[in-house]
Amino acid sequence: MDLVHSDRYLGYLLGPGHPTRPVRCSNMLTLVRNTGIPHRLVEPTLATEADLLLVHDAAYVEQVRSGWHDEWDGHRPQLHGLAALIVGGTVDAARRIADGTTIRAFHAMGAKHHAMADTASGFCIYNDMAIAATVLADSGRRVLYLDWDAHHGDGVEALLAHRTDVMTASIHNGHIFPGTGHGHRPERAAYNWPLPSGASGSEMLAAVDDALSIGSAFRPDVVLLAAGADGHEMDPLGQLAYRLEDFVDAAGEVSAFSWRHCQGRLLGGGAGGYLADDWTPRVWAGVFKELASPPVANGAS
Ligand SMILES: [Zn+2]
Repeated sequence: MDLVHSDRYLGYLLGPGHPTRPVRCSNMLTLVRNTGIPHRLVEPTLATEADLLLVHDAAYVEQVRSGWHDEWDGHRPQLHGLAALIVGGTVDAARRIADGTTIRAFHAMGAKHHAMADTASGFCIYNDMAIAATVLADSGRRVLYLDWDAHHGDGVEALLAHRTDVMTASIHNGHIFPGTGHGHRPERAAYNWPLPSGASGSEMLAAVDDALSIGSAFRPDVVLLAAGADGHEMDPLGQLAYRLEDFVDAAGEVSAFSWRHCQGRLLGGGAGGYLADDWTPRVWAGVFKELASPPVANGAS
């Protein structure tokens, strides 16, 4: 399974003391290496302007390029290139999946799921998953996007709401940022499971089962997964109570689904997680190990 990563991501800094610390992705790679999880390391390439403009307004891209935005502190012109590199990593993986070069990939730096057409939001600059879903859908694939990050995947939902060939499903704490995602919108193929603060992993897993049940009727060709680690019980932002084994179980469910319905085609992104030296990389490594495991014989559910 492909693991997309660049050491250049260490420069993706939004401000002094900011909770998003890119070292979490390097730490995840170290864990994957040290525990011997099979992987193929893939260096991302820069997204093209055309890719960015699939979901973003040209004026917003120009603003990011200028280095100024309320989402970060001060003048940070380097963020445009790094955010475009994140998009390139996710979208290149999507194209490899579309042309059959690879079946599965994970990009811990990916799934910047709050970014909107014309603004950065929630530590997210460009919406790599919405762009990847657009590329896949434009190539004729039906896409199931599943998001178990503690925060509602509002950007992905909004940017793909007009597409009938992409289903979005978000399982999140309904009482924290961004404050949206409170119900199903089947006419937009958009589904939401807002959980109470402190919700357990079993509540998350029940929602995953529900989402995959609706997802199977959608007949997807590929699964996109925003595997946020910020629902972990120790995370300072998510206010949920998932444990490592809950994330691994959820990854197992999604993995089995992808083998049963999508010939294994799956693209995961790390989304949020604010314990950069501890649980965030451990959760992602556990999820990656589960996703990288061979499918269970006889199509276990
Ligand atoms: Zn989050």
